[in-house]
Amino acid sequence: MIRKFFSRVFGGKLPGRAGAPAVIPRARHGVRREAISNGSRRVVETLQAGGYKAFIVGGAVRDLLAGIAPKDFDVATDATPEQVRQHFRRSRIIGRRFQIVHVMMGQETVEVTTFRGQHGRQDGPCAQTDEQGRVLRDNVFGSQKEDAARRDFTVNALYYDPVTETVTDYHQGLADLERKSLRMIGNPATRYREDPVRMLRAVRLAAKLGFSIDADTLGPIGELAGLIENVPPSRLFDEMLKLLTSGHSLKCLQSLRAKGLHRGLLPLLDVIVEQPLGKRFVTLALENTDRRVREGRPISSGFLFATLLWNEVMTQWEAFKADGEHPIPALYRAMDEVLDAQAEKLAITRRVAGDIKDIWALQPRFEQRSGKRPHALLEHPRFKAGLDFLRLRAEAGEVDAALGQWWSDFFDAGGQARAAMLATQGPDPRKKRRRRKRKAADATAESTPSDQSTSSAA
Ligand code: ATP
Ligand code: MG
Repeated sequence: MIRKFFSRVFGGKLPGRAGAPAVIPRARHGVRREAISNGSRRVVETLQAGGYKAFIVGGAVRDLLAGIAPKDFDVATDATPEQVRQHFRRSRIIGRRFQIVHVMMGQETVEVTTFRGQHGRQDGPCAQTDEQGRVLRDNVFGSQKEDAARRDFTVNALYYDPVTETVTDYHQGLADLERKSLRMIGNPATRYREDPVRMLRAVRLAAKLGFSIDADTLGPIGELAGLIENVPPSRLFDEMLKLLTSGHSLKCLQSLRAKGLHRGLLPLLDVIVEQPLGKRFVTLALENTDRRVREGRPISSGFLFATLLWNEVMTQWEAFKADGEHPIPALYRAMDEVLDAQAEKLAITRRVAGDIKDIWALQPRFEQRSGKRPHALLEHPRFKAGLDFLRLRAEAGEVDAALGQWWSDFFDAGGQARAAMLATQGPDPRKKRRRRKRKAADATAESTPSDQSTSSAA
C-alpha cells in the first residue's frame, strides 16, 4: 500500500532504504529540457560529456516545477572548480572561501558549484561554529547526497538533468512541492542555528511560491528569531534586498512581523504598524514596489530603503526643528542619524546610502515653486526618484496632493508651459526675502546715526 502510494507520488525509482534518491522521469514531473536556458544546458552537457555528474539545481528547478519563470539557472557538479575551468575557455573561478566557477555562455553567465560536503561529518572536517551554533566556515567538497543534505528546504534540493529529463530527489521535495509545503531538511532548529538567514528565506520563499511553511519548520522560528541579530550586516542587507524586491514584499514583511523576525532587522519595520501615517506611507511604497517588480520594471534599492526609513527621518527631523534648529541642517542631521543607526544592523552600501540621502534631501526643495530653482531641480540626477518619492508622500496624505501634481505637470511640460506655471507662483521667495532684507537694511540705515551715537557713547 505504502509502496503503491510512493510509486504514485514518484512515478519512477522509489527512494531506497539506504537513502538512495528517487529519480523521477519527465512523464511524472513535466519539465522539458527546452525550459532550461541554453547556456546552462550546454554547461551540463559539456561536463557530462567530460565524464562528470552535472545538474541544474536549486531555485531554478523549484520554480520550473512550481510553474514560475526562474531568475537564473545554477549548475552543480562533482567536478572541482579547476576541472570545470578546463572545459570552458570563457570561465573564471571566483570566491575564496568556497570557490565557484562563472562560465560565460554568450550573454549568459552560468554559476557552477562543486557539490558541497556536509559540515560536521564524522569522517570529514568539522565546521567551525560560533557559540550559538552558527556555521562560520563550510567549505568542503562532498558527494551529491551530501550536497542535497546541506541545502535548506526539500524543494530546493532537486537536481534536474536536461539530458535525461529526470529529477533526482533525495528529500521528497517533489511531494512537498505538490502539497505546497516548505519543509526544512534535517532538524529545523539546528539548521536555523547554523544559519539564521534560513528563517528569512523560509518567509520569503513561502510568500514567493504561495506555500505554507510546514509546522515543524515553522515551529522553532518564534524562539530563535533573536539569532538574526548575529548575522553579519552585509548578509542581512543582501537578504533584505531579495525579500523587498521579491514582488511580495508587503506579504513578506507582514509575515516577518507575525513571526517576530523583524526585530534586529530594520527597527523601522515597527513603523508599519505603529504609526498610522507611517503605515500608510510604507504600505503604499511596498505595494508600489511589488507592482513594479511584477511588471518587470526596474526598482532601485536606494528608493526602496529611502521609503522604509523615511518615517524615522521625519520623526528625528521634527524633533530637531522643535529644538529650534534650522530646517535644512536639521534634516541633514536627521538623515545621518537614521542611516548610522541602521548601519549597525544592515550594511547599506555607500552608493545606496548616497542615493537615499539624495532622495530625502530633495524633498524640502520641492516646496519651492518659483524663480529659477524649479529649473535647477529638474537638472538634479535624482530628480525623477525624488519626484516619485514626493508623489508617494502625496498619496499617503503627507503633503498636499496638489504639490505632487504640480511637479509632475512641470516635469511633463515644455519650456513655455513651464514659464507659465512659474509665473502663477508669484516672485521667487529668495528675491522676496532679499527685498525684505534690503528694506530692513534701508530702514536701519535711516535710523543709524542716532543708533551709532548711542552705541559709540556707550
Ligand atoms: P531565489 O533565487 O528565488 O532567491 P534560491 O533558492 O535560488 O531562491 P539562492 O540564494 O539562489 O536562492 O540559492 C540557491 C540554492 O542554494 C537554494 O535553492 C538552496 O538549495 C541553496 N541555499 C541557498 N541559501 C542557503 C542557505 N542559507 N542554507 C542552505 N542552502 C542554501
Ligand atoms: Mg537562485
